[in-house]
Amino acid sequence: MSSSNSTVTPGREEGRKTTPGPILLLGAPGVGKGTQAKELIKVWEIPQISTGDLLRGNVAQGTELGKTAKEIMGRGELVPDTLVNEMVAVRLQQPDTANGYILDGFPRTLVQANWLDERLAALGGALPLVAVSIKVDYNQLLRRITGRRNCPVCQSIYNLYGKPPAKEGFCDVDGAALAQRADDTEKVFEERMRAYEALTAPVVEHYRALGRFAEVDGGRPIPEIAAGIVAAVERLRS
Ligand code: AMP
Repeated sequence: MSSSNSTVTPGREEGRKTTPGPILLLGAPGVGKGTQAKELIKVWEIPQISTGDLLRGNVAQGTELGKTAKEIMGRGELVPDTLVNEMVAVRLQQPDTANGYILDGFPRTLVQANWLDERLAALGGALPLVAVSIKVDYNQLLRRITGRRNCPVCQSIYNLYGKPPAKEGFCDVDGAALAQRADDTEKVFEERMRAYEALTAPVVEHYRALGRFAEVDGGRPIPEIAAGIVAAVERLRS
């Protein structure tokens, strides 16, 4: 364990000893998994694998998967396990995953979790998965979801309440007009929370029971949460 509690310093400067391996970020919609994944990329230089982003990419490109997923996602329900597992299998074959990766939004069901566990076991030699659950209370989640805006060009994430852009409606990095995800409305949020409680909360318990599991408070400032995750992963890996 080497990180301070207030800031995250990129790993290459501090010479982090830990090989990150596969890291799983768990938590309800809006807890900040995507935001934290982007912080952790800076620390470990490993890719983020967000099934939500991959699915939105398929929707944007109009692939067969995208056509199937679009309506399901619009309702706040989960895309069938087999389709998502297949998409993840393809992504995990890419060479940038060799030193580790940050799974964000996957697995979301026990079927997906068992599939992933078996797949990692079959690969052999790889470091075991470390799971970190981010916790935030319901009302704060609702504000985060309805206030969330993203840059369609550089993928920066903002929040009208917590992290507004300097110029309203435009990205600080590249000046592009910010967008809102189609499923970031209060009505769809409620359905996504129902899906989370019914299908994904058991996944959290699955990884808690397996060990190599940590829980962090997601109500704190972004760098403090990131430092907490880094410390937890280094502790679980040591
Ligand atoms: P996210 O960006 O992680 O909030 O995901 C947005 C939507 O994509 C979800 O509400 C689901 O409809 C779908 N989705 C993302 N990841 C998964 C997954 N692992 N399993 C099933 N559906 C998913």
